[in-house]
Amino acid sequence: MNVLLVEDSKAIRHLVAAYVEEVGHKVLMAETGEIALELFDQEHIDLVLMDIELPGIDGFEVTRRMRARLANEWLPIVFLSSNSSDQHFVKGIKAGGDAYLAKPVNGPVLQSMVQAMGRIASIQEQLQKVNEELSRLAHVDALTELTNRRGFIMNYGREWGRASREGSTLSVVMIDIDSFKAYNDNYGHVDGDDCLRRVAQAMGSCILRPADVVARYGGEEFIVLLPNTSIEGAMLVAERLRKVVNDEAIPHAHALVGNTVSVSLGVAEKTEGQTPDGLLEAADKNLYKAKEGGRNQVCGTF
Ligand code: GH3
Ligand code: MG
Ligand code: MG
Ligand code: MG
Repeated sequence: MNVLLVEDSKAIRHLVAAYVEEVGHKVLMAETGEIALELFDQEHIDLVLMDIELPGIDGFEVTRRMRARLANEWLPIVFLSSNSSDQHFVKGIKAGGDAYLAKPVNGPVLQSMVQAMGRIASIQEQLQKVNEELSRLAHVDALTELTNRRGFIMNYGREWGRASREGSTLSVVMIDIDSFKAYNDNYGHVDGDDCLRRVAQAMGSCILRPADVVARYGGEEFIVLLPNTSIEGAMLVAERLRKVVNDEAIPHAHALVGNTVSVSLGVAEKTEGQTPDGLLEAADKNLYKAKEGGRNQVCGTF
């Protein structure tokens, strides 16, 4: 571990550092709170050993500032103080400390404390990794590996806010596979799922801007979010999506139009005074028009 030792007394600093180094950790030393905060910003720190009485800002305040800088992260902070009153203990924990050791420091006790805190820190680190993975999985569709509806809604809210603030354009494309019920009925659900994966992959591969999001919105419905894109641009993207699905040439002998799998697409651009749901409804209406117009086509309002 990287241990940050904040201690103004040179003698104690070297004694404590020796104990910590003896059990295999690296020690960074700071003789004031200000230096400690600088090191804290620059280095990766796993554990802090914090004196309370320091020249300048005291250990309680340094601890508060460290905690404020760690948004969702946590690291152990242990106070070392010659004032072993209960009040000091309470104040230390309130300031964001995790444990308290009285000075003069007993070597084996300090080393055990570092070991215990290291254990908690490592569990915490594993939990954070698992949480990050869970949060990623919560936004990914298991079948197609595209962003799922929840992920879309999250991105949509963010991009809607940005477009409203900055007065920039924002468009969506709503996509629905044509005659997909007939596909399932004739080829079975396993092939149906396979078809969904292929359509998803084909569409995902032709979305080029990093800010664009292709999502599976429902069973056989997809949606594409296009920030900074006007209706004209979105129509071009939609046409590209239509074509890439056609080019996959997935046989569909029971389709209403043609004999391969196709999609219908509805496009809409955010307009003045519209609600987020209003834009999705506009795209959905155009999708309906594309279906009515004969499927395998793009419909948008200019
Ligand atoms: P249209 O051209 O009007 O869109 O006709 P459609 O048959 O595609 O439309 P409809 O919405 O009636 O049918 C959707 C079908 O999609 C229903 C269901 O059989 C199929 N479906 C929905 N989700 C899944 C899925 O996750 N896996 C599979 N295999 N099929 C699904
Ligand atoms: Mg001191
Ligand atoms: Mg549908
Ligand atoms: Mg359909």
